[in-house]
Amino acid sequence: MTDPTRFVVIEDEVPIRKFLRASLAPDEAEFIEAGTGEEGIRLVARKNPDIVLLDLGLPDIDGIEVVKRLREWSKVPIVILSARGQEKDKISALDAGADDYLTKPFAIGELMARVRVALRHAGNLQPEIEPKFEQRGLCVDFESRQVFVEGREVRLTPTEYKLLALLARHAGKVLTHNHLLREVWGPAYEDSTHTLRVHMGAIRQKIEPDPARPRFVRTETGVGYRLLVE
Ligand code: CA
Repeated sequence: MTDPTRFVVIEDEVPIRKFLRASLAPDEAEFIEAGTGEEGIRLVARKNPDIVLLDLGLPDIDGIEVVKRLREWSKVPIVILSARGQEKDKISALDAGADDYLTKPFAIGELMARVRVALRHAGNLQPEIEPKFEQRGLCVDFESRQVFVEGREVRLTPTEYKLLALLARHAGKVLTHNHLLREVWGPAYEDSTHTLRVHMGAIRQKIEPDPARPRFVRTETGVGYRLLVE
C-alpha cells in the first residue's frame, strides 16, 4: 500500500479502538475514531474514509441503523465488528448493506484480510468483471460457465452453477442466506434456507475433496456462505 488506508472506526469500547490503533503501522493506516453512531456518521461524511469498521452495540443508535443511514448516500465499505451470538444482527447488517463482519474477539490478520477483500470489492464497482475466478485449485469460468477442480471439469446443474458463480464473484465475502436465495431463486424464495442447504450439499459433494471439511465454501453458521480466498 502506498497511501495509508483511512479507517473510520465506530466503536464505543476504548480497548478495541486502542488494539486496532496499536496493531497497524501509522504508514499503513490512518485511524479516525468515533464512540457513537451519530459521531461516526458525521465523521464518514467529513473525512471520506476508505473503509468503516462498525460495532453493532453502540450507546446511541444501533449499528444496523448506522449502516442504513450511511447507505443512503455512501458506498464506503463497511465491516461489522460484532459480539458473539448475534447472528440475526449480522444478517440484518449485511442485508442493510454492510460488506462483511467479524466476530469479537478477532485476530488482526483476519481483520486485515477482510479489509483487503472489502477494499478490492469497492474498487471493482464499475470495472470489467474478471472472466474467471481461479484460486486454491478451484476455477469458475464465467464465460463458458464451466467449473474445474484441480484442472478437472466438474458438472454442476444450472442452479448449482449459479450459486457457486455468485459466491465466486464475491469471493472472500460472506453472502447471507436471503441474498443467495433472492439472487438464485428469486424474491419468493427468501425463506427457503432448506433448499439452499440441499444445493450447497450437492455442490460440496462435487467440488470438495472432503465434503465434511470444506476447503472452498465455508458455512457461516446461521448467516450464510463464503467462498474462501488466500
Ligand atoms: Ca459496543
